[in-house]
Amino acid sequence: MLWTSLTLVFVVTAGIVAAIFARPVLAARRRRRAALSPDQARRLADAVPLYPRLPTAARERLARRTAAFLSHIRFVGCDGIEIDETMRLAVAGQACLLCLRDGADVFPWVREILIYPDAFWVHHEAPDELGLVDDEPRLLAGEAWDEGRVILSWSDISEALAGADHNVVVHEFAHQLDFDAPGTVGAPALADYGDWAAAFGEAYEQLRREGSPVIDPYGAENPAEFFAVAAEAFVQRPDELAAAHPRLYRVLADYLTIDPARR
Ligand SMILES: [Zn+2]
Repeated sequence: MLWTSLTLVFVVTAGIVAAIFARPVLAARRRRRAALSPDQARRLADAVPLYPRLPTAARERLARRTAAFLSHIRFVGCDGIEIDETMRLAVAGQACLLCLRDGADVFPWVREILIYPDAFWVHHEAPDELGLVDDEPRLLAGEAWDEGRVILSWSDISEALAGADHNVVVHEFAHQLDFDAPGTVGAPALADYGDWAAAFGEAYEQLRREGSPVIDPYGAENPAEFFAVAAEAFVQRPDELAAAHPRLYRVLADYLTIDPARR
């Protein structure tokens, strides 16, 4: 009787442990198998500013990654905004421009995206993702939290789609890649940081010293913001970035596995 109870306890415990370990594996498989509907696939071109400059293979990969992103992340409309398919595709498609690498997953730790109609006020009395505390409330277009939540302003996303210099989705998801690389700031997880550190270090110091014709001066705040605004410039102004900062452009193009500048 005792042995039967012990065996039962063992089987139940093993089952629970197996379920806990199997969950992320099964979730990753679900993400890999996700596909866009024909309607979503048609609309992806309008949802991603760089789309016309991507080769066919990258477009197909972007469609698969966008589907995977949409399969696991919940969208929440805030301040009365209703989430529609245009918004979901614009956020997912642009975020996934950052994960076209071979074998890249699509931000598995992000659970929820909150969209506000316009820029929103935040007041961090507790430390934010960079450990900063606000004295005063700040008006933001986007914010990346490391507990799996990203907050975005739809009016700023629309401006990026219309060709503005800024891209709040790319900015916030570059921060997410940064969070995923413990022990470094201003870089995603890389096997070798040599080229990245040299190109980013040089361009960061240059921005702090003399500014840049294409990189937002906000990037001079710290290396994390520099990575985020450099990624925005890569997506919104690839030609100018390649001309003004060829080394930085090349490192980003190699990492993202796309080369959108027209030369
Ligand atoms: Zn930022």
